[in-house]
Amino acid sequence: MSLPENRHQGKSRLVVISGPSGSGKTTICKRLLEVPGIVMSVSAATRQKRPGEVDGEDYYFLDKDEFARKVENGEFLEYAEYNGNFYGTLRSEVEKKLARGLTVILEIEVQGTRKLREGGVEALFLFVMPPSPEELERRLRHRRTENEETILGRLAIAREEMDMAHLYDHVVINNELDAAVEQARGYIGHGDFGYEPRTETAGDESDPEGEA
Ligand code: 5GP
Repeated sequence: MSLPENRHQGKSRLVVISGPSGSGKTTICKRLLEVPGIVMSVSAATRQKRPGEVDGEDYYFLDKDEFARKVENGEFLEYAEYNGNFYGTLRSEVEKKLARGLTVILEIEVQGTRKLREGGVEALFLFVMPPSPEELERRLRHRRTENEETILGRLAIAREEMDMAHLYDHVVINNELDAAVEQARGYIGHGDFGYEPRTETAGDESDPEGEA
């Protein structure tokens, strides 16, 4: 799996962020977008749009045939099935943003991470943990955008995902949002990631809505 532009002054600029649904990873990602030069990769997904979501900003919403065609054409850096729907990172998304010298966040689930690890993709891998299983369930129910079956499905997946935290370079426990964001920024900004975020603004990149 090659990504020729995945280099900037010898450093990787891809950041993979995962965490169970309800861990707060989407909120953390949104806060990271406030850092100049950090943008999200917009994934393709086959699930239904949630209220307030925008095609092309939150996801590229595709039907299953369109998604399968892109799989056949090799357009995905990785993709996975999650709770009955398909989600994938478009190579074109990542490449165009890396080529602009931006730091690109992939907010993906753990199977996708495993594929990136197996493919030898260089990135900083961060896993966001909720403070406790009880708090995770409370957050998921509080969202009220999904039915009981979906919530139970997400809870079951969440338990499996938390067992996969060892695939990541660092675990960020999201007990208090500001502290979790600072911790993530610290890993991205220096330490083993090895560079300071750029100071100019990221331009026209938008801040996707949605909560996970
Ligand atoms: P949601 O339906 O809540 O937006 O997303 C469900 C899960 O799919 C989340 O864990 C999210 O991080 C993950 N996801 C979103 N985009 C991608 C992607 O491109 N690839 C993979 N593997 N997972 C994704």
